[in-house]
Amino acid sequence: MNPLRVTIWNEFYHEHTDERARANYPDGMHECLARALKADDLEITTAWLEKDEEHGLSEEVLANTDVLLWWGHCRHGDVRDDVTDRVVARVQQGMGFLPLHSAHMSKPFTRLMGTPCTLRWRENDDRCVVWNVNAGHPITKGVPLHFVLEKEEMYGEYFFIPEPEELIFLSWFDGGQVFRSGCTFTRGLGKIFYFQPGHEVYRAFHDENVIRVIANAIRWAKPPQAREFRAGASMEPVV
Ligand code: ZN
Repeated sequence: MNPLRVTIWNEFYHEHTDERARANYPDGMHECLARALKADDLEITTAWLEKDEEHGLSEEVLANTDVLLWWGHCRHGDVRDDVTDRVVARVQQGMGFLPLHSAHMSKPFTRLMGTPCTLRWRENDDRCVVWNVNAGHPITKGVPLHFVLEKEEMYGEYFFIPEPEELIFLSWFDGGQVFRSGCTFTRGLGKIFYFQPGHEVYRAFHDENVIRVIANAIRWAKPPQAREFRAGASMEPVV
């Protein structure tokens, strides 16, 4: 069986500018994730904002990506609109899309959702309990009923997204806030899973449960086989 082709995209900015982020992810979150997700059935490549003029997301790279992970935060606005168009089109054609943490405000995610995607937040060393509220779902395979991140940025409701197709996780924070932290959507043929953990000054991407969730979500989000359903494809007469 051909391996799934996974591209991990990272803004890769805080790791250069914030000592705390650099300490957690010395060679970037994308490299940390690539190492943690390494598996025989995955062919993983990485890309970042300043990799090249197209942020490492050329037509060719995206055409050869089955599932795209996306982490961005303070430089969403620097992502080119034509690259955003390309990502959105590929999702519609069936590419899986996993926006992580502050990618809730990324250009591709907000475009695909069509809503502001705003939320409440606080960086205050909150303890975060991630509750698995969809025990039978492929994304929660091997994930306990709940797991704890000792420090995580608080993300709270109201999370201004469309009604998720499936709610997979619900997070609770020290301050009492709750957050729909794992949500699925479909746009065109593409499956989307938003997942909340991953603030740059904490260590979520070193947590085994967080990695298990992302690993499961990659397999869940793989594209359908039916490439002939691509938008705009020409068609010969049937008879
Ligand atoms: Zn954050």
